[in-house]
Amino acid sequence: MTTPSAGLSFASAQPGSPWRVYLEQIERVLPHLGPLAEAVETLRRPKRVLIVDVPIETDDGRMAHFEGYRVQHNLSRGPGKGGIRYHPDVGLDEVMALAAWMTIKNAAVNLPFGGAKGGVRVDPRTLSLKELERLTRRFTSEINMIIGPDKDIPAPDVNTNEQIMAWMMDTYSMNVGHTATGVVTGKPLALGGSVGRNRATGQGVFFIARETGRRLRIPVEGASIAIQGFGNVGRPAAELFAANGARVTAIQDVYGTVYAEQGLDIPALARAADAPGGVAASGLGERIDAQAFWELPTDYLVPAAMENQIDARRAERIRARVLIEGANGPTTPGADDVLAGRGITVVPDVIANAGGVTVSYFEWVQDFSSFFWSEDEVNRRLEQILVGAYGRIWDIAQHKHLSLRTAAYIVACERVLDARRIRGLYP
Ligand code: GLU
Repeated sequence: MTTPSAGLSFASAQPGSPWRVYLEQIERVLPHLGPLAEAVETLRRPKRVLIVDVPIETDDGRMAHFEGYRVQHNLSRGPGKGGIRYHPDVGLDEVMALAAWMTIKNAAVNLPFGGAKGGVRVDPRTLSLKELERLTRRFTSEINMIIGPDKDIPAPDVNTNEQIMAWMMDTYSMNVGHTATGVVTGKPLALGGSVGRNRATGQGVFFIARETGRRLRIPVEGASIAIQGFGNVGRPAAELFAANGARVTAIQDVYGTVYAEQGLDIPALARAADAPGGVAASGLGERIDAQAFWELPTDYLVPAAMENQIDARRAERIRARVLIEGANGPTTPGADDVLAGRGITVVPDVIANAGGVTVSYFEWVQDFSSFFWSEDEVNRRLEQILVGAYGRIWDIAQHKHLSLRTAAYIVACERVLDARRIRGLYP
């Protein structure tokens, strides 16, 4: 019997949408999966989708409604794991793709998790702090039945932070009647957070860039680096690159782009960038336009903002030597082909930005044992896990003459499909 590829898996997907991009990535790995490929339909569908209405009272006494999502893409290897995003463009197609990328990421790094993701369709800049808290608490209550320390563990993502995680943890705990720190990761230290979690995604981006540089003989020390995004990922990554002798020549955030050939003063930029107007209003570097950013000659280009930033057209104009995907899904399959043809190495999101969820795993483990590690221990284990996983992916790419993305998908899909095979089909 053949399974029709219809229903939720295809209903919402527009050509070029994130979920379509993910499906195309799965098609590309299929020929390399051997007999496991027979069960691939499981990866083409989210296991569970929850869409919720999130009503809140605004500060001026009105009612406002927001749409929220939690998607559990796959739970074969463990509980769901993945962040919560607040953004005006959040939608089902995007959250399904982000959840699926978490399945691949967690398996590529061999963390004992499935993949999940959530989000609320909201521009958090339009909310007061109190409204943000009410939104977070109501959203958490609405998804309460499918999350939990051994069910599905949210974390920060675009526009969410440790305060939002604290409200989520408190709301879940109130609902279940006891304090459950392990229900979310990326919490403040005072509530069972882990040292190093805030900076972990950027730290991972740095480790992966350094490893790539070692292999390609483009040492990070002295290299030029352009970064899109100056948030949870881009900012700590920029700080680490600058502190380790790289020249961070360009930063782009939602407001604009700044450039300095000799390298931007990253600590000064970090101090200035939270003010209205972002990096462009800092007075540091030269302001350049958004398209010019992508065409800068640079050793490393780090997209660390949103998905779908680099399509085939933009890829033709990129003059970087290496692309390190700090964001999830920034490069389309068409762009992957163009970049490969032009000899530009692409290090895929599922390993390049896996530092965040790896330290989330450490936080979850620490919460279970109520025993907390030192920063040295967190960073040492993070480096060990990421560098080990990357080495394996690199070797497969070399031996089979494949892109790093396809190699990472081979490792990940084999682990997920093998777990499913061994578990068997219920009932
Ligand atoms: N949002 C981050 C990601 O995309 C971290 C997820 C987590 O820590 O669970 O990987």
